[in-house]
Amino acid sequence: MLIWRIASNVLPTKANLAHRMGGTALSCPVCKQEDETIIHLFYKCPISRAIWFSNPWSLHSDAFLVTNHKELAMLVIDPPIIPSTSTPIKSLKEQSTIQLALTIDTIWQLRNQQEHSDVQLNFFSTIKTLETKIWEQIKMVETTVGERVRTAPRWSTPPQGTIKLNVDAAMLNQLAALAVVARYSIGVLKAWTKIVPLNDVLMAEAAATLWAVEIAKSEGY
Ligand SMILES: [Zn+2]
Repeated sequence: MLIWRIASNVLPTKANLAHRMGGTALSCPVCKQEDETIIHLFYKCPISRAIWFSNPWSLHSDAFLVTNHKELAMLVIDPPIIPSTSTPIKSLKEQSTIQLALTIDTIWQLRNQQEHSDVQLNFFSTIKTLETKIWEQIKMVETTVGERVRTAPRWSTPPQGTIKLNVDAAMLNQLAALAVVARYSIGVLKAWTKIVPLNDVLMAEAAATLWAVEIAKSEGY
């Protein structure tokens, strides 16, 4: 339903509401930095980008090359898949659709929470819930089609006893959104995000890396 509303451009984002009803409040309820269009909210918003990046596949939203709401919906319905020798393409497509649809749904729920209540954004709990939902759905699909539930899927987690920190930085106007995700053998352990005043992408990436080192030190990793 959500994907259908995205495809038809009828999702009540601020930009869509303003266009239809003449409102003037346009700014994204999540980052408050840009107008809330469908593309901004699900694709460009630094918090959304951090959510994409933090899921089990660690995706960078700018790798999708999505320019409008229709392309975003098509990405979910018919995800571009690189064929693999070990898993049938139908299975890969199903897994990707589940992951993309649940990520988009999570972003929409987070957006509604930020828009309608004063609850502080809890990045870690958001991505942990998303991770659990993705695993549950994938296991359900694999079980329903009679396949063996795979314990070793096509993405790999760090070896047991190891903690891996992934970093990401996204630019937005004169600000950079930094994200650090700590993963261990069974999934996401912890995650952090913050917005800092920086206007250079290399500086932002360096700041994210430095922040990860500081986190590793203070967490005792
Ligand atoms: Zn935003």
